[in-house]
Amino acid sequence: MGFHYDKDRDGIVTVTMDMDGPVNTMNTAFTGLFETTIDRLEAEAGLTGVIFASAKKTFFAGGDLKMLVAVEPGSENEFFRGVEYTKALLRRLEALPVPTVAAINGAALGGGFELCLCCNHRIAWNDRSVKIGFPEVTLGLLPGGGGTVRLTHMLGLQAAMPYLTEGKQVRPDRARADGLIQETVEDLRDLLPRAKAWIVDNPNAVTQPWDQKGHRIPGGGSNSPKVAPMIAVGSAMLFEKTRGRLPAPERILDTMVEAARLDFDTAQRIESRNFTSLVTHPVAKNMITTFFFQLNQVNGGASRPDGVPPSSVKRLGIIGAGMMGQGIANVAAHAGIDVVLKDISLEAAQRGKAYSEKVFGKRVKRGKMTPEGMQAAMDRITPTAQLADLDGCDLIIEAVFEKVSLKDQIVKESEGCLSADGFWGSNTSTLPITRLAQSSSSPERFVGLHFFSPVDKMPLLEIVVGEKTSDETLARAFDFARQIRKTPIVVEDALGFYTSRTIGTHLTESVQLVAEGVSPARIEGLARGLLYPTSPLALNDEVSLRLGLEIFDSQVAAGLRRAEDDPTPEGTAVLRAMVEDLDRPGRYAGSGFYDYDDSGKRLWSGLSRWRKADVDLSDADIEDRLLFRPVLETLRCLEEGVLRSVADANIGSIMGIGAPVWTGGYLQFLNTYGLKKFQARCEALAERFGPRFAPPRILIAHAESGEAFR
Ligand code: NAD
Repeated sequence: MGFHYDKDRDGIVTVTMDMDGPVNTMNTAFTGLFETTIDRLEAEAGLTGVIFASAKKTFFAGGDLKMLVAVEPGSENEFFRGVEYTKALLRRLEALPVPTVAAINGAALGGGFELCLCCNHRIAWNDRSVKIGFPEVTLGLLPGGGGTVRLTHMLGLQAAMPYLTEGKQVRPDRARADGLIQETVEDLRDLLPRAKAWIVDNPNAVTQPWDQKGHRIPGGGSNSPKVAPMIAVGSAMLFEKTRGRLPAPERILDTMVEAARLDFDTAQRIESRNFTSLVTHPVAKNMITTFFFQLNQVNGGASRPDGVPPSSVKRLGIIGAGMMGQGIANVAAHAGIDVVLKDISLEAAQRGKAYSEKVFGKRVKRGKMTPEGMQAAMDRITPTAQLADLDGCDLIIEAVFEKVSLKDQIVKESEGCLSADGFWGSNTSTLPITRLAQSSSSPERFVGLHFFSPVDKMPLLEIVVGEKTSDETLARAFDFARQIRKTPIVVEDALGFYTSRTIGTHLTESVQLVAEGVSPARIEGLARGLLYPTSPLALNDEVSLRLGLEIFDSQVAAGLRRAEDDPTPEGTAVLRAMVEDLDRPGRYAGSGFYDYDDSGKRLWSGLSRWRKADVDLSDADIEDRLLFRPVLETLRCLEEGVLRSVADANIGSIMGIGAPVWTGGYLQFLNTYGLKKFQARCEALAERFGPRFAPPRILIAHAESGEAFR
């Protein structure tokens, strides 16, 4: 393992990167191998060209995130020097007096594509598996190996923006059209011969665009009259998205503007400085931890019971072809599973199937699916009103109305259709799985499969383990989730599971603020400033105020909670007034906290009835109340064993209930906020606003020991 160095008779050296481990990454081992290679290339007699290739399935995976996440504040100088050292090596590659080519056989992302940008020519295999781009921004970082500056020089500020500030990744044909690479081959076997042919044909193509005399950045430099106003508008638009909570896109734009203003080498140093400041920033720690390590952990099966052989679902039955059933049918058919979609009438089931036609049709239009692929997926969905058509399904999921008696009846009448070793899933969002499993003759094969709406867009599946659900059933549910490309978290069967219970605290806190007289526009604005994807009063409307109230009332009626324990009774009174007195039950009815019409939505002016002129709450009080409630509820879920892992909490909160991305999820947030600081702030909030903010024991224990939530 290492870098293989082969010189052919024409004097062309092929460097095939094959680092230890499954992928090539930019770390200290890389620096050593790369330096030795550059030394040798510089000294090579009779050298006529160089090809960088990979022995792995991917070309190069980018920066070593294990190393990057471990860089602590205080070690900035050392880190900066390391970055500059690697960049000097890349510059030496660029300065070789012979043409160099990157032969891209697989994904070339981040640091991998930075290496490609140092070559004079880039050729990629035009395959679905090959992706090109800079995902750094999605982890709170910037391309710090010269990529930010080089791409700006190559494409110009405007065209480089989506690749750098949004982390856009593309397939080779698109990369060629956008000027990121110059050539593609359809057959992988042609890749190296094409690279050699280009070297032979272009012996003098040795100077990078930015090193050529008279080089101009496409579109103009930062001070040009066309570009300067665009920068002002661009940075305002960016701030609208980041609200100062996501430093990476801001630093990237900053570096790009400097690159288009200063000389190449100075801009490179600025890029290294900005990279260094991001690496040690809490937001990068949060994003790398959760979106890379914990996401891999979750998808890799950390919460899947060991010892159960992998399984897959071949024939899926879905009962209820409404909003959820039709979405589940869609993702399953897309994943190659045969689906029987049952509703009370054939027409209703057909309507459910028609939903897939719409979703797939859009995908075909965008070039993300072939018409043949769409036809094959559509053919996999059989709509029906006949119970007998479900015979032989190895999984049946019910997605009928949220009513215990109906669900009981459905389980009883259709359980017999399951294949001998089939299992049963309920998509209930609130009913206890253990209770529903009572109507099953084999409760060990009964599991909660809580999908999110719209199913074809939302990446999460919350798997709910009932009291009797067996490990085998849980493992099979997990495998099914991966089969349909969802990220599964595993939670115990408690009221509201993890996600509904936790989002509920955020929603009710916002209504409590209304009840206390805070201006609704202020609540919504501050939540947007926290980067919640949907502001909480709007989200209350989406979920429906009536549903929120019905769930509360039915839980009280069933003895699952006591009305007098309601932590935000004034908020509940507002909800009740909205639904029962004012007939504003939510978005579905066209009126809730907002008014809705074709032109969009506006906060309802009638909310002024609750406003008070003398509200004594700072912005920080409001922000912390909205953010801390779900964080505290997540801690309680961990303490009570509803959550089995920190990773599930973080991934579930981000992918299921819209926790702001900069937090890295509701538990990771605590690690960088500071455990003691959070405890102290909660104690202050509890004193002023009530015991719902009191720090749970698990938080106090971690704050005392200093142990992070991992
Ligand atoms: P929906 O009203 O859109 O669909 C329910 C469907 O079930 C209807 O098409 C109805 O005709 C059908 N149905 C009723 N009785 C039936 C029977 N006996 N046999 C066959 N079909 C029957 O409801 P939905 O929003 O899809 O919700 C379904 C379930 O999913 C509920 O348990 C709900 O709590 C849960 N859920 C909903 C969401 C959401 O955001 N809507 C999210 C997660 C879970």
